Amino acid sequence: MDFAFSQDELAFRDEVRSFIDTAFDAEMRAATAKSRTGFMTRDLHIRWQKRLYEKGWAVPNWPKEHGGPGWTHVQRYIYDQEMTLAGAPAPIAFGPRMLAPVLMKFGTEQQKRYHLPAILKSDIWWAQGYSEPGSGSDLASLQLKCEDKGDHFLLNGSKIWTSYAQFADWIFCLVRTEKLSRPQEGISFVLCDMKTPGVKVDPIITIDAPVAPFQEVNQVFFTDVKIPKENLVGEWNKGWTCAKYLLEFERGNPYSGGLKRGLEKVRKIAKAETIDGQPLIREPSFARRLAQIETEVMAQEFTELRLFGRLKAGQNMGAESSLLKMRGTELQQAVTELAMDAAGYYKVPFTPYIPGRNEESPVPEYSDGVAQKFLNTRKTSIYAGSNEIQRNIMAKAILGL
Ligand SMILES: Cc1cc2nc3c(=O)[nH]c(=O)nc-3n(C[C@H](O)[C@H](O)[C@H](O)COP(=O)(O)OP(=O)(O)OC[C@H]3O[C@@H](n4cnc5c(N)ncnc54)[C@H](O)[C@@H]3O)c2cc1C
Repeated sequence: MDFAFSQDELAFRDEVRSFIDTAFDAEMRAATAKSRTGFMTRDLHIRWQKRLYEKGWAVPNWPKEHGGPGWTHVQRYIYDQEMTLAGAPAPIAFGPRMLAPVLMKFGTEQQKRYHLPAILKSDIWWAQGYSEPGSGSDLASLQLKCEDKGDHFLLNGSKIWTSYAQFADWIFCLVRTEKLSRPQEGISFVLCDMKTPGVKVDPIITIDAPVAPFQEVNQVFFTDVKIPKENLVGEWNKGWTCAKYLLEFERGNPYSGGLKRGLEKVRKIAKAETIDGQPLIREPSFARRLAQIETEVMAQEFTELRLFGRLKAGQNMGAESSLLKMRGTELQQAVTELAMDAAGYYKVPFTPYIPGRNEESPVPEYSDGVAQKFLNTRKTSIYAGSNEIQRNIMAKAILGL
């Protein structure tokens, strides 16, 4: 199999690089360099996403008729790789990557007319309301109640682990509309304006992001929240179909660009740190671990090239996206563990990222933020469907077990 890019693809790669060089400005670079998650601030994200929109690159996964760039899968792969290699954050996924394909397939004409342009231009920030206390992997057990009150719907209950809900304008939610024998039945998919009376966002403070409002996750409470009936997407009680369709777009990202960037950081630390008077990078057992992970990252990159190269326009990856997610996140964790080991004592000072704070870090620049990144990366094998669930999917859908 030929993994080399064609001349046109290489020219496209250069165009992406030169765009990132100028559009991803100094303020954004400074914010992402300090952030351990790639998150900057709401304003900087919107500025960045609007620049991508102006270039016509905000929604690589959309069909051309809705404003997508009409790229091949290889171009999309190159674009994602170059963005992660440069440390430029991908647009917040909930609107453009997740909700938009659902609206295109199941939304009413009015929903498409109103919401798709707003997502395209980053005028509305979306949050994802799937998980609930007690309903994560077993998502179909969800309980957020939605009653048909004649001229409106009424929501009562809560959603949890809702990423960046504190910044969101709207949230899409899976809600319980009827208790039927199969839990997947009786679920509906609705849209809710976060400014609606009765919606409350409580921060969840985690060890890596210990200061509100710059935390990553939240619990969102809905108390007698009235939403218009036109906010139902798809059919009443048939929201599971929309839910599953959305999940196809939540996974299937390339990881190798970010992994290579992480390995660069490890190499930088291991060249600066010494052991017995020698740079750590030359110490045999460390060098062996580094080489092992580099080889696995290379294997991940080839797997990504193989899977993305095989897709035809308009196709999704299906169950193989579980393979990318599982291995990609395992490697993310392995790379940050290696960085922790390389940083030695310098991993101990803990400098949480708080936008706008200007305190000097007590450790050298090369090992700054290592512990927080390590802690933050523990999430990746849990969110977007835990890795155990990805293994179950592959066992059934790929291996036929
Ligand atoms: C940082 C972060 C951000 C998130 N953002 C969002 C968001 O924006 N919106 C949203 O809706 N949700 C979000 N989530 C929630 C995420 O989708 C859930 O955490 C995830 O689905 C796991 O659910 P749970 O936490 O309830 O764990 P559980 O489902 O209770 O799982 C606990 C453990 O049991 C294992 N397990 C469960 N069932 C099985 C099984 N059948 N076979 C084998 N092992 C199993 C799991 O793998 C896991 O190790 C986020 C989570 C995190 C950590």
